[in-house]
Amino acid sequence: MNEKEIFNRANNKCELCESEKNISIYEVYKSDDNNGYTLLCENCKNQIESQNYDENHFNCLNNTMWSEVPGIKILSYKIWQALGRSDMADMMYLTDEEMAIANKKEEVIKDTSGNILKTGDSVSVIKDLEVKGAGRTIKRGTVVKNIRMCDVEGHVSCKVSGIGQVYLKTEFLKKI
Ligand SMILES: [Zn+2]
Repeated sequence: MNEKEIFNRANNKCELCESEKNISIYEVYKSDDNNGYTLLCENCKNQIESQNYDENHFNCLNNTMWSEVPGIKILSYKIWQALGRSDMADMMYLTDEEMAIANKKEEVIKDTSGNILKTGDSVSVIKDLEVKGAGRTIKRGTVVKNIRMCDVEGHVSCKVSGIGQVYLKTEFLKKI
């Protein structure tokens, strides 16, 4: 993935709604080339990550669904589906491989009590956790805000004040 090439491809604009505000790279799926990545504005990204979509905002999908870039195409397809617009999703042409990526179920991550955790949630730590290699402990009761999903199974990624970026086991977290 080459960040500069993606910014060029996108003309420094959100590749969904063309906003130029707070744009950054978003991974639709992992790929060595740029195909799995899109440039998104904060507004689009927040809606995608919280899965809380404003249908009007995503009128832009009428254009982006015809993109040649697999990542943009797949993302458009997924948002149409999330909006309940399978009539639009059905009009799209995706290769078998793209379809497999688009329909891949996202892993459901749960806290110690079985509550589903989502990006942006706040959690509290239910027991003292040693941070390996850092010689520090995250004390029981510590509140961690704005958790992120990550590739490490059974973990979420987050920033703990005074310690930094860590992966925490979800079985030791409680959603608040
Ligand atoms: Zn956008």
